[in-house]
Amino acid sequence: MTPHEPENRQEETSDFGFRRVATAAKPKLVNDVFARVATRYDLMNDLMSAGVHRLWKRALIDHLDPRPGMRLLDVAGGTGDIALRFLARADKVARARPGKAPAQAIVCDRNADMLRVGRGRAVDRGRLQNIAWTEAEAEALPIAPASMDAYTISFGLRNVTGIDGALREAARVLKPGGHFLCLEFSHVVLPALAELYEAYSFRVIPLLGQWVAKDREAYRYLVESIRRFPAQEALGERIHAAGLERVRVRNLSGGIAAIHSAWRL
Ligand code: SAM
Repeated sequence: MTPHEPENRQEETSDFGFRRVATAAKPKLVNDVFARVATRYDLMNDLMSAGVHRLWKRALIDHLDPRPGMRLLDVAGGTGDIALRFLARADKVARARPGKAPAQAIVCDRNADMLRVGRGRAVDRGRLQNIAWTEAEAEALPIAPASMDAYTISFGLRNVTGIDGALREAARVLKPGGHFLCLEFSHVVLPALAELYEAYSFRVIPLLGQWVAKDREAYRYLVESIRRFPAQEALGERIHAAGLERVRVRNLSGGIAAIHSAWRL
């Protein structure tokens, strides 16, 4: 080994779907995927999951329990789906308890195209206040320590190059008592469902991607990245190792997706 050769070559490469790529190259590859599909992203979510992603997101919001005055950081927030749902639910609670400060959300994403689509959606819904849009990396958040009541990351962690660094950032920005929630594709726990889901993912989703988003490769990456993502228990251990406590996991649709919940103590 030469003096400049890395001791562990594994650290120099990362998964990009089923391919191993240079770690330094992965952020751009992921960014290109989302830049290409941004305008079709929300429609594709509905088509691919037959609308079920809405139920999963509703389950996430139920866990989050939005209240007036709460400050949410939604990382890898893309087109703002979680933040907009959070604010809508918090507003509903506020109407029943007038006089409280409004809830606030910051959507943080590294992709300018996804954020642009998100801002447009917010404007279409008349949501101009109490929401901010920040272009930044999950691994280096421009957010003060211990400043957030809640941190969410929905279908984002799988795309992040430095998962452990992103989890440490989540622990850093949460206040003591702050809630961490991760909604992500996971590993199917029902054997009867596994085969069907495998066939659907590898045969149907890339085809839908080709027809609707005109991008088969982007949706092949999606399916492959799901297979490479850590299973429920392994992810739970990494969340705990990052400094978050009371880690719980709830499987959704037989483990097709899962919500990991944890707290900053
Ligand atoms: N959270 C949204 C939702 O649930 O619909 C969007 C999820 S989308 C599948 C994944 C998002 O993660 C993309 O918008 C992408 O730009 C973002 N992303 C990927 N890597 C990131 C990183 N390192 N830091 C911040 N955002 C990232």
